[in-house]
Amino acid sequence: MEKGDTTDIAIIGAGPAGAAAAAWLARQGHDVRVLERQHFPRFSIGESLLPQCMEHLAACGLLEAARAGDFQPKNGAAFCWKGAEAAIDFRDKFSPGPGTTWQVERADFDWRLIEGARQAGARVEYGVKVDGFAADVLHPRLTLSDERGVRRELRARFVLDASGYGRVLARLTGLDRPSTLADRSVLFTHVEDRIRCPDHDREKILIGLHPRHPQVWYWLIPFRGGRASVGVVADPAILEAAGADDAERFWTLLGEEPRFAELLDRATATREVSRLTGYAADIERLHGPGFAVLGNAGEFLDPVFSSGVTIALDSAVRAAPLVERQLAGGTVDWAADFETPLRRGVATFRDFVEAWYDGRLPRIIFHDRQHPRLRGMISSVLAGYAWDDDNPFVVASRRRLDRLAETCANDAMAEPT
Ligand SMILES: Cc1cc2nc3c(=O)[nH]c(=O)nc-3n(C[C@H](O)[C@H](O)[C@H](O)COP(=O)(O)OP(=O)(O)OC[C@H]3O[C@@H](n4cnc5c(N)ncnc54)[C@H](O)[C@@H]3O)c2cc1C
Repeated sequence: MEKGDTTDIAIIGAGPAGAAAAAWLARQGHDVRVLERQHFPRFSIGESLLPQCMEHLAACGLLEAARAGDFQPKNGAAFCWKGAEAAIDFRDKFSPGPGTTWQVERADFDWRLIEGARQAGARVEYGVKVDGFAADVLHPRLTLSDERGVRRELRARFVLDASGYGRVLARLTGLDRPSTLADRSVLFTHVEDRIRCPDHDREKILIGLHPRHPQVWYWLIPFRGGRASVGVVADPAILEAAGADDAERFWTLLGEEPRFAELLDRATATREVSRLTGYAADIERLHGPGFAVLGNAGEFLDPVFSSGVTIALDSAVRAAPLVERQLAGGTVDWAADFETPLRRGVATFRDFVEAWYDGRLPRIIFHDRQHPRLRGMISSVLAGYAWDDDNPFVVASRRRLDRLAETCANDAMAEPT
């Protein structure tokens, strides 16, 4: 094994979390090395952003790089269930901050972000897999393998793990732990959507619930140019029962939701139907001697409220200034300064995810007589402002959701039957 290469900050993975941290730190003049096992542009799922992302992209100087992608604007989320429709407009929200964002093809979006980081001064190595790690508070070391199997060592002063589903440090340090959320599976593809319905709003993600199995839900994320991402999330047993192979299962389930069936009746797939299973994951700690863990490499909840990229970017813009402080000789309490505040927002999203699957949130969303101020507070969380302590649905999310769902249930007139 070759020895001797060094850097200030080594970042594992060039997805949104890695690119954001790299851009922020490189702009401060640090020697930043990003190690990415794939070659970009590469496909990734996770295409509907939340407006909170815009502030994070601006904070690390990547907003303009992303804007140059001319992505499909997004201003909210629409929902359909048994013929009823509801929409949440992110511009009508309680928290300050942007109310719009984009729906992005991640191959292009992620490539623009990491290219922005490279232009800010980060060195990016593709086709390099991190497969070994030695924690050390001053000189953590990574083992890297290139595509020919040649191994070498990289010594850093700090390591950020942004390896997403690779979960490199969670696995190598034994910190991996299962999520408390149920195991679910998803089938998804991209389509030429050919949507003709004049009442379809391309500026919103559309989320549908299966008429008979409300834990089965769908997404339709329109892109520019008449393309869209379509997915169905379900308990694995329901997926299996829906057909002989994944393509059949996908189109059968899609046809069972009337609005999706209507919108996508002329759609043609532009890639194979793919399946992911058991993607929810967690980690004991988001930090250790000489390292911190960002984005999906730490905790991933669920796709339903499109919180993944927002959490990834939030973790990066929280961690980067702390790395800088630590390298300058300052003291950082990674638990108090990083993990606790980051996990607070994640916990808010978790409460919303749980309320989605146990039916409280659909009841709230489809209830048509709601106080605009309460609606605005819900809208804020769904727009990604899950760290806004002025929002009662952040500070006491579970209690507030319980109470509002109960109020809606007692006034059941507006619920679909
Ligand atoms: C079905 C589904 C739908 C989703 N929909 C949405 C959505 O609509 N909106 C949203 O915001 N989020 C969504 N997400 C979540 C989103 O995909 C992730 O949260 C987001 O991509 C996390 O970004 P990241 O930078 O942490 O990791 P990633 O984007 O996964 O990037 C990690 C990078 O690390 C690299 N890597 C991995 N292992 C190694 C290694 N050993 N060495 C070197 N490099 C390595 C990978 O190649 C990858 O490029 C969805 C997730 C799922 C499962």
